[in-house]
Amino acid sequence: MDLFGHLDTYDYGEVHIKLDKATGLRAIVAIHDTRLGPALGGCRFIQYQSDEAALVDALRLARGMTYKAALAGLPHGGGKSVIIRPAQHFDRVALFRAFGRFIDDLRGHYITAEDSGTGLEDMEVIRAVTKWVTGVDPSHGGSGDPSPFTALGVRRGIEASVEHKLGRTTLSGVHVAVQGVGHVGYHLCRELHASGAKLTVADVDALKAERAHREFGAKVVPLDAIFDVDCEVFAPCALGSALNDATIPRLKARIVAGAANNQLAVPRNGDDLHARGILYAPDYAINAGGLVNVAQEVIGYDEAKAREHTMKIHDTMTEIFRRSDALKAPTYKVADMLAEERLAKARAR
Ligand code: NAD
Repeated sequence: MDLFGHLDTYDYGEVHIKLDKATGLRAIVAIHDTRLGPALGGCRFIQYQSDEAALVDALRLARGMTYKAALAGLPHGGGKSVIIRPAQHFDRVALFRAFGRFIDDLRGHYITAEDSGTGLEDMEVIRAVTKWVTGVDPSHGGSGDPSPFTALGVRRGIEASVEHKLGRTTLSGVHVAVQGVGHVGYHLCRELHASGAKLTVADVDALKAERAHREFGAKVVPLDAIFDVDCEVFAPCALGSALNDATIPRLKARIVAGAANNQLAVPRNGDDLHARGILYAPDYAINAGGLVNVAQEVIGYDEAKAREHTMKIHDTMTEIFRRSDALKAPTYKVADMLAEERLAKARAR
């Protein structure tokens, strides 16, 4: 494995690696950047094909967190951890305790949180051995489920998009097609419905789609038909790569604004949207509400403050759109530029 080659590719940073033979813990903490503050980012617990795949995942994700925190105006850098899920039987509590001790050794340089494969119970185990953890139980001062905050931020981003692209100041009567009505998609539908929007949804889980129909009057369409809906806004809230060479030409929406991470299959798909005149709300800018919520937990959880900060996603989106117009540049590039400017300012300080 070309270790330093990988670090160079992702513009690093520091990486910490832990092997704990007693529990079988094999963990990597990637700290991409701490110019704005301690690195904050979730802990992923999944199986990997190789150690190299785990390392690259951590490096890639932590770098994304640097940009996300910078754009959200948070006093945090980008970090992410991965625990390689053992193929054999393991003691989950012992494993996460060992991981907590590993995090504690980093003395607040990296603060962990939930991610794919980890949940509140794991954060509680980590909390028993270190204070450098978020996403713990609300009864212990935790911030709880981040999805409603992510959805709130996405709703604010959709409002900014609709104002900018359609010149409309409310969502009343605006038709939004939501792909995926899981944790975030469900709360987003609730927010949009309350604002008077018209909804069409699709989900692989028919029960979830049905719930959106029952509670918010959403029209349910087959999975693949969601890309063809004649609507104003397409909101990807399922998995990544929803925007690709096959789907972009089909979109009738004039705006793409949703919660999913890594919506562009490849970066140039952001140029394709721009060329088609479709306003794209960059994913990591619009879906930062959950991160804002856990960042609030670091300084003492206050729901009202987390909400107030999340509401500002509207203004960040507007700034991105205005600059995109002025520079005639695709929004995904402008978002990166804005984040890099904020990081450069921090470096100058
Ligand atoms: P989730 O698993 O609860 O919901 C995803 C939903 O998408 C599920 O209901 C699933 O059945 C559905 N789905 C999967 N494939 C689909 C397809 N092809 N078509 C339609 N529906 C499909 O996840 P979530 O927490 O709601 O997160 C959704 C997205 O938002 C993910 O990309 C996640 O990374 C991103 N995100 C989530 C948060 C958060 O606070 N949970 C924060 C930032 C970003």
